[in-house]
Amino acid sequence: MWKTEYAPDASVSCGNGVLRIATDAPGVDAFTLRIGKDFMLSTLPVRIGELSESMALPAKRRPHISEDGSEVLIEQENTIPFGSEPAVRRKIRLSGELLSVTMDLAMRASAEMKEISAGGLVLEGPVEKVRFLGMPEKGGFVPVFSERKDFASAEEGAVLYDGAYPPFGIVAEGGKSAIDLIVGDDFWRWTNAGRIGGVCRFTVKKLGGSLHFLWHLFTLKPDTEMPAGRNWRLTWAASWRLSGRKKAGETPFKSVFSLDCAEWQDAARAVLTVRKSAGRRKKSSGLNPVCLCSGPALNLMKKWLRSQLADAEEGDVFAVTDAVPHYCVSAGHMERARFESLPHWDLASLLEFRRWANRQLAPHGARLELIAPEDSVFKGFMTLL
Ligand SMILES: [Zn+2]
Repeated sequence: MWKTEYAPDASVSCGNGVLRIATDAPGVDAFTLRIGKDFMLSTLPVRIGELSESMALPAKRRPHISEDGSEVLIEQENTIPFGSEPAVRRKIRLSGELLSVTMDLAMRASAEMKEISAGGLVLEGPVEKVRFLGMPEKGGFVPVFSERKDFASAEEGAVLYDGAYPPFGIVAEGGKSAIDLIVGDDFWRWTNAGRIGGVCRFTVKKLGGSLHFLWHLFTLKPDTEMPAGRNWRLTWAASWRLSGRKKAGETPFKSVFSLDCAEWQDAARAVLTVRKSAGRRKKSSGLNPVCLCSGPALNLMKKWLRSQLADAEEGDVFAVTDAVPHYCVSAGHMERARFESLPHWDLASLLEFRRWANRQLAPHGARLELIAPEDSVFKGFMTLL
């Protein structure tokens, strides 16, 4: 079990990550995370028109440590005291080798919606190769990894990714270490510019020898009416493994829930198109896979876990197997059925399910692990075993 610890310099550590939050003086970065000895992940400031988060007032911080000390949650608010006074709020959760962030851009209707950058991330350290997790192949549901690109020998300023949507994930490898970054299940929010008269662009570059993942969230199209300022939420997460991939322990699992099970109802399954004529079933290979962003899927998994609690004993390990992420466009899964289609993917929901499950199991001394299929490319990615 990880223990969360505070140091006098206002840093907080959990597992082998040490999080530092800017305190008395607003800095360019909202927070930095030192990962082991060699890697450092930091945020870039949000920019809304001429206003930058780096002009913000000193951040409020409200740290909460979970009862068992395995997790810390820090809430931060950076208000820019100019113009329409937008604010950037972050909920930063650190637990073992997983960092999850929810970022809210709070804008009044009067905020100028011409150009918005949500900042992005900088990863410093001995990165040798990078891979991107992108859209599934046509007709498929599982996101696909690109070939490894050589980061170490890339020239300064080299662009390794440039797209109108972000990659679902990035894996940066160096030596035996790997740092994974993902956008949350709210993929549609990242790419929302097109729905409100703008364009967005996401790039990964080598700048100053470091990996920069840049989030240009909105640029108003020419001759387009400016939309009103709006709140905008983005979620993302990072994970790391510093000495090769962890494997599942030798202990036999007490009970297993396979995501490949056949019991999902239609409403729990991923869809690639919302056109009625397309039907819900793939022609050749039976039923569509599950989408863990859907309420019915999560309910079934929670029901399974709850039914195990009475028998859970000290040291027991429960497992969700066949864990691979799926891409889906059902707006109903995002509880916004009025939209035709809202693209999302469900890895963050799966990680959140594990967090919930482990809270239920902790009082019994038991835990839950997420197991990718044998030989899957997802083994090791974002803490999957
Ligand atoms: Zn879905």
